[in-house]
Formats: sequence, C-alpha cells, structure tokens
Amino acid sequence: MSEQTIFAKIIRKEIPAAIVYENERILAFKDIAPQAPTHILVIPKKALADVAAAKEDDAALLGELLLSAAHIAKEQGLTDYRIVINNGAEAGQTVFHLHLHLLGGRPMRWPPG
Ligand code: 5GP
Repeated sequence: MSEQTIFAKIIRKEIPAAIVYENERILAFKDIAPQAPTHILVIPKKALADVAAAKEDDAALLGELLLSAAHIAKEQGLTDYRIVINNGAEAGQTVFHLHLHLLGGRPMRWPPG
C-alpha cells in the first residue's frame, strides 16, 4: 500500500502545495501554518518516517536534504536561518514523513521550546 501521510499525498500531487523546489529525490514547499516569514518544508520523496528510520544507504539523501535547504535559503534571500527536524511526537513531530523545517526572516530565540 502506498504511504498515506499528507506529505506523501503532496509528493504524488494528490493535494496542492506551494512548491518552491523539486528534483527527482527532494521536494520543498511552503508550510501551511508558517512560524516565520519564510517557513519551507524540505522533504525526501522516499518514504522515511523520521531521521531514526534512515539507514547507511540514506546518507547521500540526508546530505542532499541539507544542501537543498541551503540552496533554497539562498534563493529566498536568506543569510541567517534555522533548520529544524523534529524526530518523534514528543519532539513535536506531527507528520511522520521525514521533513526539515527551513525558517527565516525574523530573529530566533534559543533554546527552542
Ligand atoms: P512537524 O510538526 O511534523 O515537525 O511539522 C509538520 C509541519 O507540516 C507543520 O509545520 C505543519 O504546519 C505542516 N503541514 C501539515 N499539513 C500540511 C499541509 O497539508 N500542507 C503544508 N504545506 N504543510 C502542512
């Protein structure tokens, strides 16, 4: 059975999203509930639930996720930004398809909540 998360449906173009970047392995689109002026989700097209589900074979894909985020940040005119990955419900993960949050356009505080 195909993956049923909301992000899998976005990858399959079954539901719309404001896509800002796409290649064969990666998709990036605007978050529907932005937490900063720029809030983009960068996801692998491969069905990985979270970072913990990644294997050795996924090393290049994980690297490409980060490089894609840096590329998109530059395209969006961001020099300072935050990249977040929530792994697991207690860490704030609500969609169980691996995704990286790219947040920018406002000052950030530390530590995060
Ligand atoms: P998480 O909490 O799992 O780290 O992040 C999930 C993110 O997905 C949230 O920031 C949420 O706003 C975003 N999101 C949930 N559903 C949709 C959707 O249908 N479309 C888009 N573009 N973003 C979504």
